[in-house]
Amino acid sequence: KELSYDLYQHLPRSKPVHRPLRIAILTREPKNYSSQRLKEAAEAQGHVAEMINTARCTMAINALSPAIYYDGRRLPRYDAVIPRIGASMTNYGMAVLRQFAMTGAYILNTPESIGASRDKLYAHQVLASAGIGMPTTAFAHSPKDTKNLIEHVGGAPLVVKLLESTQGRGVILAETGKAAESVIDAFRGLDANFIVQDFVKEASGVDIRCFVIGGKVVAAMKREAQPGEFRSNLHRGGQASRVRISKDERAAAVKAARALGLSVAGVDLLRSDEGPKVLEVNSSPGIEGIEKSSGKDVAEIIIDHIESHVRALRRPPVRR
Ligand code: ADP
Repeated sequence: KELSYDLYQHLPRSKPVHRPLRIAILTREPKNYSSQRLKEAAEAQGHVAEMINTARCTMAINALSPAIYYDGRRLPRYDAVIPRIGASMTNYGMAVLRQFAMTGAYILNTPESIGASRDKLYAHQVLASAGIGMPTTAFAHSPKDTKNLIEHVGGAPLVVKLLESTQGRGVILAETGKAAESVIDAFRGLDANFIVQDFVKEASGVDIRCFVIGGKVVAAMKREAQPGEFRSNLHRGGQASRVRISKDERAAAVKAARALGLSVAGVDLLRSDEGPKVLEVNSSPGIEGIEKSSGKDVAEIIIDHIESHVRALRRPPVRR
């Protein structure tokens, strides 16, 4: 079960492109490393790349011509759009992306796939139904279920994760049943949304980030937590280094990106005794850490992927 890559198949397809591409990078952080590298890589290959601030796009929705305005001026048609949408902009960003899709632009990650990966409960369900290994995960709504939740994941030690968490901030290790109960009750009291997850002890503070582009792992890095810390996030002081991944890890990463319908994805996995376990699939993965630790030109590979995809529009559209 996969999300369709071709939700916009019914729209008129653009003509084949035999000229430099016009690429929009949809971001609120035009100066950050990822945005800059993508622009550089596009320009190095003779394309035109423009930074578009998602928050400043306004849309006129009508049946005849889907227009997008930027500071009051109508935007030109782009051949491709690279979404770099932060968590705080997910909904509006998805609407802007849908609008770009309606203008016929190739969208690197579709709004549906971004939405699916951002909805952690849904993403877990999609990954599980695709048969991808992941830590046993439980979630509940009712406050009476604390004990059941703990049992569902096999008891303590376990990890409690706030669903809004990024950069490891809302990820807590509860080493005993009592600690687990208190953390869960506290989150409930705050009306927070969270999941409870089996603690993969043998991963011992190391996780692997696989950068997937167009169904291939093009680079990977290992992130190692500081001593005494189980979270390997770079924002939590984790150290990135080069790593060789196994065939199983490669397959799991590719499958996870595919299950969510993402052309570009950062797939985080843990090395467990039972093989790779996918933690999370990121739809706007940062490029800096992975380029610096792997030595690969990830931005260039993204632009190559766009190029081949936009040129691939020469194929006759798939009939249904
Ligand atoms: P965030 O999205 O906030 O980064 P993650 O789910 O990626 O949250 O967790 C942060 C870090 O905590 C991971 O990179 C990993 O090192 C560690 N971690 C998360 N879940 C588990 C788990 N179930 N078992 C062991 N370590 C985990």
